[in-house]
Amino acid sequence: MGKIYVVGLGPGAGSQMTLCAKDVIEHCPVITGYTVYVDLLKEEFPDKVYLTTPMKQEVQRCEMAFQEAEKGHDVAMVCSGDAGIYGMAGLLYEVGKKYPDIELEIIPGITAACGGAAVLGAPLMHDFAVISLSDLLTPWEKIEKRLRAAAMADFVICLYNPSSKKRADYLSRACDCMLEYKRKDTVCGIVRNIGRREESYEILTLEALKEKQTDMFTTVFIGNEQTDIIRGKMVTPRGYRNV
Ligand code: SAH
Repeated sequence: MGKIYVVGLGPGAGSQMTLCAKDVIEHCPVITGYTVYVDLLKEEFPDKVYLTTPMKQEVQRCEMAFQEAEKGHDVAMVCSGDAGIYGMAGLLYEVGKKYPDIELEIIPGITAACGGAAVLGAPLMHDFAVISLSDLLTPWEKIEKRLRAAAMADFVICLYNPSSKKRADYLSRACDCMLEYKRKDTVCGIVRNIGRREESYEILTLEALKEKQTDMFTTVFIGNEQTDIIRGKMVTPRGYRNV
C-alpha cells in the first residue's frame, strides 16, 4: 500500500515552500492536484507521474489518489498555501472513509493570510478572522452572518476568494457588512499574486476598498479599530504598550 501526503506548497512557487514539502515531493513518484499548481511543479520535477483533474472535480481527484496508493505508489496531493485551509486535506479524510488502510499525512504550508500579511507589513498582530467569500459551498446568507459577527467583534478580517467574474460585486457587498460596524477610514490592504513574480499590494480605506475590483489571485485584509499606517505599511498594534 502506498501513502498519501497532502502538501501545502505555499502561496507562490519555490522559495516559500517548506523544506518538508519539498522532501515529500521529491520522494513521491506520483503527484496530483489542481492543474495550475501541478504545472508549476512540472518544470522543477519533470520525472514524476502527474495526474490532474479540473477545478470542481475534487472528489474524483481524491478517488484517483486513493486508487494510486492502492497500487502501491506514494502520492503527493498538492494545494496552494496550506492544504488544510480551503484546501484538500479535509476532503481526503472524508473520501478516505472508504479506504481505511491507506495512511494520510498532512504537510503544512504558508497560507495566503501569512504570506500576504508579510507583504503588507504586520496586519495580523492581534485576533483575526479568515472568511472566504466563495458561495460555491457556503450559502451567501451564512457568509454575511460571519462577516457581520467578525466586524462587530472588531477582528482584523482576512478575505479569501474575494471575487470572480461571476461574483463581481461580492467584495462590495462584504464591505457594506463591514461598514455597519467599522469606520469608513479603517485601514485595509489588498495583495495580489503573493510570492509570485507579479506580486503587488495596495493600502487603502474601507470606503475605497468597497469600490475595488479584485480577482481570485487576491487576498484582502480589513484592519481593526487600532490598525494604522507606519512607514507606508499596514500595522495592527500588538497592544504591549497598553498593558
Ligand atoms: N489553501 C490556500 C487557499 C485556497 S482558497 C491557502 O492556504 O492559501 C483560494 C484563495 O486564496 C484565493 O482566491 C486568494 O484569495 C487566496 N490566495 C491563494 N494564493 C494566493 C496568492 N498567491 N496571492 C494572493 N492570494 C492568494
